[in-house]
Amino acid sequence: MNILILGSGGREHTFAYMIAQSSKCGKLYVAPGNAGTSEIAENLAINPIDFAEVAKTALEKDIQMIVVGPEDPLVKGIVDYFAKDDRLKNIQIIGPSSRGALLEGSKERAKEFMAMHNIPTAAYESFSFESLGAGKKFLETLQPPYVLKADGLAAGKGVLIIDDLDEAKKELENMLSGKFGAASQKVVIEEFLDGIELSVFVLTDGKNYKILPTAKDYKRIGEGDTGLNTGGMGAVSPVPFADETLMNKIEERIVKPTVNGLSEEDIDYKGFIFIGLIKVDNEPYVIEYNVRMGDPETEVVLPRIKSDLLELLEMTWNSELDKASLEIDPRTATTVMMVSGGYPGSYEKGKVISGINEIQDSIVFHAGTRKEDDKIVTNGGRVIALTSFGDDFEKALKKSYQSADKLQFDKMYFRKDIGFDLS
Ligand code: ATP
Repeated sequence: MNILILGSGGREHTFAYMIAQSSKCGKLYVAPGNAGTSEIAENLAINPIDFAEVAKTALEKDIQMIVVGPEDPLVKGIVDYFAKDDRLKNIQIIGPSSRGALLEGSKERAKEFMAMHNIPTAAYESFSFESLGAGKKFLETLQPPYVLKADGLAAGKGVLIIDDLDEAKKELENMLSGKFGAASQKVVIEEFLDGIELSVFVLTDGKNYKILPTAKDYKRIGEGDTGLNTGGMGAVSPVPFADETLMNKIEERIVKPTVNGLSEEDIDYKGFIFIGLIKVDNEPYVIEYNVRMGDPETEVVLPRIKSDLLELLEMTWNSELDKASLEIDPRTATTVMMVSGGYPGSYEKGKVISGINEIQDSIVFHAGTRKEDDKIVTNGGRVIALTSFGDDFEKALKKSYQSADKLQFDKMYFRKDIGFDLS
């Protein structure tokens, strides 16, 4: 079958790498893709949120499956767009409908969903500009630090954690006055949970589900988890502290009620759910839902799947996940992200990357890269993820770091302490 992957990051290169290994994979396209995807698939210069263009290309190229990498097209309704058109509705599109995608698109909706289905999460209330006064009063009832979340998508920047009450009140007012544009017309204020974070990934057809490997990512730019937030600087899978007891709690209290909740609310959902969790005294709480895979978590989660990923995705579309078997590589996978100097602030693009061909012990997943003549150059903040396997995370990381030493581009930076909090 012919497949189109939407997106351009390390996540999408990993999907392409996995799907290309399937005997069922015919022609593989990535839109818009990067230099890495162009080696194993054909890149198409299409913007994933231009649904008309995606649809036209899907018909022209006889695409049978579309895998949606990022959240934007999902929240904007790409699945609904395909479902309502007779010529497109049989294309297997992996991702939730816009009602499903609202679990990521609106934090207020996600909290209401969790409350409705008894899913453990931080206590919260939601406010608009009209209820600013009540919001300030609510803050007074909480203990610091205060967690303020813009309701809508804000490119990972919409969550503020503030120690001082007066500052929190001021920020609430700023947010409701448009600090994050339409995304912060509503603000969720929630109780701060003190614990360690992990992510659980679920593939669901809307009724049945498979729990994929766990992962932990490292979001801050600086070592010891300091400095600004990034898209993610590295990840480890599995998470060593996600033992059987914790995983059972996560499945019973969170995964099952989430999938059942989607089904009870008649939400069409054939895709991935990425559940951001925090473990407080051995009890799991949901921090957030994402309606797609994470990046760089995908770079460690998918390579551990030994079953044919394309078959799993087909079974997802056909609502047959109950019949699927899922074989997971027991080894640990780690990934370390090479980024452009200056990121997540301003940085330069177009730097020549050398050493890729010398890397043997890691899988090189491209993120912000492009081809320029016969060279590969940087084309974004996050440039290349180096994924390695090992019997434990220390051994896997050693390989990722040895590979990093072989790679070069002007002002390349990476965190040398991925996994620092796990041993
Ligand atoms: P992302 O960039 O991961 O998509 P987001 O902007 O969607 O994030 P959240 O994941 O909800 O927002 O929150 C961002 C981060 O803030 C979390 O990863 C977590 O570290 C912290 N956080 C959020 N809610 C809480 C909470 N209730 N208690 C403690 N920390 C929290």
